[in-house]
Amino acid sequence: MSRQTVLPGSAASGQQATLGVMGGGQLGRMFVQAAQAMGYFTVVLDPDVISPAGLVSHYHIQTDYLDEQGLAQLMQRCAAITTEFENVPAPALMTLGSARPVAPSAEAVGIAQDRVKEKAHFVRCGVPCAPYAVIESAAQLAAVTEDLLPGILKTARMGYDGKGQVRVSNRAELASGWDELKNVTCVLEKMLPLKAECSVIVARGWDGTCVNLPVQLNLHREGILAVTEAFEGNLPPALAEQAVVATKSIAEELQYVGVLCVEFFILHEGTAEAQALGKLIVNEMAPRPHNSGHYSLDACDLSQFDLQVRTLAGLPLVQPRQHSPAIMLNLLGDLWVDNKTPPWDQVLALPGAHLQLYGKLKASKGRKMGHLTLTGATVAEVRATALAAAAILGIEAF
Ligand code: ATP
Ligand code: MG
Repeated sequence: MSRQTVLPGSAASGQQATLGVMGGGQLGRMFVQAAQAMGYFTVVLDPDVISPAGLVSHYHIQTDYLDEQGLAQLMQRCAAITTEFENVPAPALMTLGSARPVAPSAEAVGIAQDRVKEKAHFVRCGVPCAPYAVIESAAQLAAVTEDLLPGILKTARMGYDGKGQVRVSNRAELASGWDELKNVTCVLEKMLPLKAECSVIVARGWDGTCVNLPVQLNLHREGILAVTEAFEGNLPPALAEQAVVATKSIAEELQYVGVLCVEFFILHEGTAEAQALGKLIVNEMAPRPHNSGHYSLDACDLSQFDLQVRTLAGLPLVQPRQHSPAIMLNLLGDLWVDNKTPPWDQVLALPGAHLQLYGKLKASKGRKMGHLTLTGATVAEVRATALAAAAILGIEAF
């Protein structure tokens, strides 16, 4: 289906304009909250009875993602539908897309959920990615060239937060690593000398208008995002500009509609890899808002979730403006030591502290429970409060 503007609030018929989302995680929750603030009714489809988004949505369809009745209900209730995680089954999005505007499209999500297709797309866009080989058979495993080692073996599908990945330094480890990943289709990527990682979030509308949030500098720990720094000067301006241009071309080439995040590696200057490939390497894309964009809720005049609502509803897209430097700390389940609630009162005594918890009842190691964004007048001020918050919570300094 093509563009259709869904104005917020109630129509002459007395019916409330309603937007739907596939998936009930924290990203769905923040989408729902942004949509509701603007006056939309919301529907979440997620099999989990107590999902973060289901808990705050006006309506929650509790069925499997491929359940025909669940999908039929979602289509009947919603004027347009989005998704909040990339592993939503493509056939479900195709069904929805046959009757309602769906953004992003099943096709775009299908590319993002498969590393083989995703890498081919980056190559098509002329944006350099890590040298890689596709491994689907023992013959392809044997044919891997030495220059890809040491490397990281990644399952083509269903990986997240570093899951479905094995680091391998030689052929023996490569063989055992592929066994460990159950011999599913994988991509072997050359291990690159990373200096830093960054990401760019764009929103592209039905009419091709494309706007972006400022480039985010990201620190990962154990394969999971830990800290995002968003302020002018976090990266050399030319590199930041290059990342924005690359992200827009990746979205454009897909005829993408919705919010898209592209993650990049920045390589150490002077290394052979940087000389061969350039300093900026694309890692992967997420067809949705992204953890690294959560600071936009508190530090920008339009958040990534506002942008998702606008793209989905066919409303105007205007360039977001960051009005405050920001640092975001991810709050992982590790902080709930012995099931004790972390000292939020101490954290909230800091100026410019914005706490978001996702309503998850059980904390476990590595589970994303919430995030904390620190804003302030200057970068130095924000850094000081972010470090103070990290110290209070027992998060390693950065
Ligand atoms: P996400 O939750 O972001 O989707 P993921 O599980 O898909 O994560 P990747 O983004 O592929 O995983 O990798 C996780 C982290 O591992 C990266 O952020 C980076 O720190 C490191 N990494 C991945 N690939 C490489 C590489 N080729 N060279 C060096 N480090 C890498
Ligand atoms: Mg990643």
